[in-house]
Amino acid sequence: MGEWHPESPARLQAIEDQLILARMDGLLERREAPLAELPAILRNHTEEALALVRDNTPKTEGDHYPLDGDTLLCAHSYQAALRAAGAALAATDAVIAGSIANAFCAIRPPGHHARPSEPMGFCLFNNVAIAARHALDSHGLARVAIIDFDVHHGNGTADAFRDDPRVLMASFYQHPFYPYTEPEPRTATMVNVPVPARSKGDVVRALIEEHWLPALDAFAPQMIFISAGFDAHRDDDIGGMGLVEDDYAWITKQIMSVARTHAQGRIVSCLEGGYNLSALGRSVVAHLKALAEID
Ligand SMILES: [Zn+2]
Repeated sequence: MGEWHPESPARLQAIEDQLILARMDGLLERREAPLAELPAILRNHTEEALALVRDNTPKTEGDHYPLDGDTLLCAHSYQAALRAAGAALAATDAVIAGSIANAFCAIRPPGHHARPSEPMGFCLFNNVAIAARHALDSHGLARVAIIDFDVHHGNGTADAFRDDPRVLMASFYQHPFYPYTEPEPRTATMVNVPVPARSKGDVVRALIEEHWLPALDAFAPQMIFISAGFDAHRDDDIGGMGLVEDDYAWITKQIMSVARTHAQGRIVSCLEGGYNLSALGRSVVAHLKALAEID
């Protein structure tokens, strides 16, 4: 999105570097992401939202088109967005087919701010929402959960599923903070818990035990999607929270436990935010060790 922009290609390189340092790289099965088919995108987004990204992607290398002050398109953005969503879709297919137990999609651009009708906040298409709809509509699942532990409110995901009883969304998010949505009343399927800046792991773990886990047990999802943002890390200056790698491992283990009980272990986790490169890489390692049950 430009040399100055925190949502940079270096994020994926930082993850690769930390996987190598942790000697994890050889233990993972890697798959290349296909491009998403347009009907899958259009299950979650309007034609207008798709056209905004497709038609404004610059034709000239080095050019940028601002969708908003934070969200810019470069010559590769449309393809990258299709490939990010394609990763989430392919991971969903593979996990439902049982060829892999769970999957982490190291993708960008992120997705959880992308509303059905509008890209925003570094996000073009809502990768997790697109994959969740694919699980419901193409694979015939009746109930899926989306868990979002990014520091920012996943407003695009909430907009997509607020009135859909097939989807439980559970999150915490720093408030007040971007995208400045007002907290909504919690329902059986919208369990989004605002927390003040400077909250640390003890606050997050307590709210997960008090709010997320009972709601997830009552809902009994058949598959779990994760909006895995790591910008609530204490070293991440984009956010103002104080999580550390152990917190991401603990959160992931809680999600694994719910998935084992209700969802045949089926989890697809998609990268969202995380902008301190070292903290991002270390946190993804903690997340993947938990997903792969490597301790
Ligand atoms: Zn974020």
